Amino acid sequence: MSGIIKQLDKDTINKIAAGEIIISPINCIKELIENSIDAGATKIDLFIQNNGFKMIKIQDNGTGIEKSNFALLCKRFCTSKINTYDDLKSIATFGFRGEALSSICTISNLKMITKYKDDVIAYEVEYSSNGDVVNKKPLAANQGTTFVINDLFYNVPSRLKSLSYTKQELKKIVDCISKYAINNQGISFSLKRLEDNKMLYSCKENSTLDDRIRLLINSSISKFLINLEDVHDEDLGLIKCEGIITNLSYCNESTQFKKTSISTNKMMVFFINNRLIDCEVLRKHIIQTYNAFLPKTASSPFVYLSLFINPENVDVNVHPTKKEVYFINDEEICEIICGNIKSILQSQDVSRTFQDNT
Ligand code: ADP
Ligand code: MG
Repeated sequence: MSGIIKQLDKDTINKIAAGEIIISPINCIKELIENSIDAGATKIDLFIQNNGFKMIKIQDNGTGIEKSNFALLCKRFCTSKINTYDDLKSIATFGFRGEALSSICTISNLKMITKYKDDVIAYEVEYSSNGDVVNKKPLAANQGTTFVINDLFYNVPSRLKSLSYTKQELKKIVDCISKYAINNQGISFSLKRLEDNKMLYSCKENSTLDDRIRLLINSSISKFLINLEDVHDEDLGLIKCEGIITNLSYCNESTQFKKTSISTNKMMVFFINNRLIDCEVLRKHIIQTYNAFLPKTASSPFVYLSLFINPENVDVNVHPTKKEVYFINDEEICEIICGNIKSILQSQDVSRTFQDNT
């Protein structure tokens, strides 16, 4: 191998970066859903073909996109959400890096239809793989934005090959939408598979939290759910934590659910500042808390927590897919939340023992 150092060309750089951000259709869908929520949508409809590989279409009724923004929409590091690095301290939107659309564009064929709230006409705009507008035409459409992503990874053959386990991909997509629906009451979500016109997920704008949890897990979960009262500790930066957990009977009785192969991944749904994240430290604390009350054979609880942490204490910029975040005082915050869960479970355990003895 020769040792000559040279600068890679822009297309190669963009393709490598895109591969880190959009790893599979699910990352693409997550970014698009977050953009729609950022745009104030109350209705988000998704359509997929070949589990998102052939096509992903997402339609929202958000603000729409101004014509003057079309040229930069799919360009790397172009965003309307922050101006300086300091703005990350108080980030209230999902997006901030302006990388999602440019990445998706690099590895697919992207088309957008949008009607901005203050405009009378809508536009359909097609983009080239480097984010240039190649076609623009006016048309009639309702307020909001639709993205049509065709042939994801068409120019990344190795990725296409490695992702051939498409059954899993579909599960992940339905899971992801169900979780966003749980954390975003007031927004309707739907997912339709175009090959057979099958509706794979649907919840209405006025669906309750209970309805939305039942759609993720199953209809028998309702009777086991307990609200977690608002937990907070301003000194630690925990502004608020709300959520729903299952009681001990669920874990004992739900060995029956094991047959329905509900993955543990489905069972713990965490949002921090409205961002869907994996939080290993919180997961571990919760499992330990439940384990103190349960026999080894019991199955996992269902726990949904929405934490609001002082944005200044959260570093959202650690993972290209924004899947993980770091926050200050994580151990202490987990202990406070689990202390609350523990006292709920304790009071239940006492009443159960009492019932068993009578
Ligand atoms: P980011 O979300 O990090 O800003 P994106 O590449 O996801 O970067 O989006 C670029 C910009 O495109 C956003 O800042 C926003 O202004 C605009 N945008 C993307 N999706 C939508 C949408 N569904 N509705 C309105 N504006 C959108
Ligand atoms: Mg975004």
